[in-house]
Amino acid sequence: METQTTQPMTEPVHTRAPYWQDVPDEKWMDWRWQMSHRLNTVAELEKVINLTDSEREALSAKGLFRVDITPYFASLIDPNDPHCPVRKQIIPTAREMVPFQSMMEDSLAEDKHSPVPGLVHRYPDRVLMLVTTQCASYCRYCTRSRIVGDPTQTFSRKEFDAQIEYIERTPQIRDVLLSGGDPMVLAPKLLEMILSRLRAIPHIEIIRIGSRVPVFLPMRVNQQFCDMVQKYHPLWINIHVNHPKEITPELAAAMDRLTRAGVPVGNQSVLLAGVNDSVHIQRKLVHDLVKIRVRPYYLYQCDLVEGAGHLRTTVSKGIEIMEGLRGHTSGYAVPTYVVDAPGGGGKIPVAPNYVLAQAPGKVVLRNFEGFITTYTEPIDYDPTEIQHQEALIAHRPEPGQEGIVKLLEGEQMFIEPAGFAETRARGGAEHRLRSGEIAKKWQPLGVGAIEQEQMALEDGEEQSVNSGQ
Ligand code: SF4
Repeated sequence: METQTTQPMTEPVHTRAPYWQDVPDEKWMDWRWQMSHRLNTVAELEKVINLTDSEREALSAKGLFRVDITPYFASLIDPNDPHCPVRKQIIPTAREMVPFQSMMEDSLAEDKHSPVPGLVHRYPDRVLMLVTTQCASYCRYCTRSRIVGDPTQTFSRKEFDAQIEYIERTPQIRDVLLSGGDPMVLAPKLLEMILSRLRAIPHIEIIRIGSRVPVFLPMRVNQQFCDMVQKYHPLWINIHVNHPKEITPELAAAMDRLTRAGVPVGNQSVLLAGVNDSVHIQRKLVHDLVKIRVRPYYLYQCDLVEGAGHLRTTVSKGIEIMEGLRGHTSGYAVPTYVVDAPGGGGKIPVAPNYVLAQAPGKVVLRNFEGFITTYTEPIDYDPTEIQHQEALIAHRPEPGQEGIVKLLEGEQMFIEPAGFAETRARGGAEHRLRSGEIAKKWQPLGVGAIEQEQMALEDGEEQSVNSGQ
């Protein structure tokens, strides 16, 4: 069979505002030049954008989350439209200074789940490694604005060592996500040092990088970068595009280089009021992403983070968007909509309800068009048939995090909030009805591995007695 090799995408036209028209292409396409020419003051921004009073006020305010915008990304802003979706993501307005109910500094309680500074171990088999607090540009809704942008909060070599040592001595970790800040603004040698040390740990199966650099600074995804990362496969990258306007020829060429280097690329976007809270915009976004070989992965509900109040939507808007995506376009193009639980509960997927009713042997479902159908379940299904195969696979321990699975597997019968039993005892005196002696009366029969072992043992003893042995 004849095989066809496609040519890499040719270098694109260079998206740039008139202010930078005379900058030579070599400079414009040099990521270091872009980083050192970022805009952050009223005077600099006014060279390319007609600022509103509200923007000027916020840019002049003290103590606001850092502002820095690469010339490339600033060129995507409509200079005369205050509602431009690119602009709303990176230029502050006075609305950022308005507090809102439930806002928090660390809404995901990440610092609470850090066994060592900068390492978040929230899920059983994976960790988040914050390698820097610096980014190429700064998003106004950043979840980590408590540390991001502040060079004094960034991590030292000693802290990288502590993070890596924790990963080395914790074999349950199979997946490391590098984030920050943005790992792709690290000095190339430092980033490679971290990747090579992680790759040398036998139990690390995959490494992931979460980065908005390809969107703010696609020139950073040059051939040297792609050659470097492909030495550390399997390595995955998630980028962060929120609006179709961010999908430029430069980003497309960068994704072409990255995917040719064998890196699977996904996209995480944040649902933002006035930016992308529309079924039609989201549909165009996911279509444009899959065209450049980027798989929509997550659509996040905006976190309860200081400064982001005006960018938040309702959760029902997110569900409406998912209703408009699932079934209406390719499954590949549909992200999972998640609410990152305030307080540190992790990502909670939220979706429209497609299961309408259930009865023994039947499930009533509806599709995206409102067509209602019945799935008849098998009456002779034997879920134990798989057990001999299952026993051949090593079960990964998830100490304390088995959750609902533990209930389904019969290891536990209920999950109660901390202090549940004490609250109901209401300080009452110890009584014979609830003495430790007879606590067994609350032990459900056959639930939990120890109990089952005990039952099997008693069963065996009984059989021995019956058979006279
Ligand atoms: S790129 Fe990521 S870490 Fe940096 S400001 Fe934006 S959301 Fe925050």
